[in-house]
Amino acid sequence: MSDSPPNPSSALRPCPVPTPETQHFWNMARQGLFLVPRCRDCGRAHWYPRAACPFCWSVHIDWNPSPGRGTVYSFTVLRHGAGAAAPPVVLAFVTLDEGPAMLTHLVARAPEDWSIGDAVQVRLEPSDGDYPVPVFEPLRT
Ligand SMILES: [Zn+2]
Repeated sequence: MSDSPPNPSSALRPCPVPTPETQHFWNMARQGLFLVPRCRDCGRAHWYPRAACPFCWSVHIDWNPSPGRGTVYSFTVLRHGAGAAAPPVVLAFVTLDEGPAMLTHLVARAPEDWSIGDAVQVRLEPSDGDYPVPVFEPLRT
């Protein structure tokens, strides 16, 4: 296990572009809240935000505050070619404790130190625009 985080970069992530279905999520993220949509009719949480429940097609969707915890389902390390200055990116599916899986980035740990099944928590990182970007870091215990 490495003692230092992977190649910290000063470059900010590109700002997310809200859609009508995601605008509330991004507004709340800007206030530091991580929300997960849940169907009022069948009770199941889902990701990504959308107008209708992917399980029962209900349009009655609630936004629930989430602690943003989950586990790493799978990941890959993206490198940008030999000699490139950009740090590697750890692209992952994280299974949220609420159930759905979320495509995201893993941060705050060297790429070679991640494992499937690692416990993680969300971190809302600043972007180059108005809205933060949800990424995941090792769960603090
Ligand atoms: Zn439903």
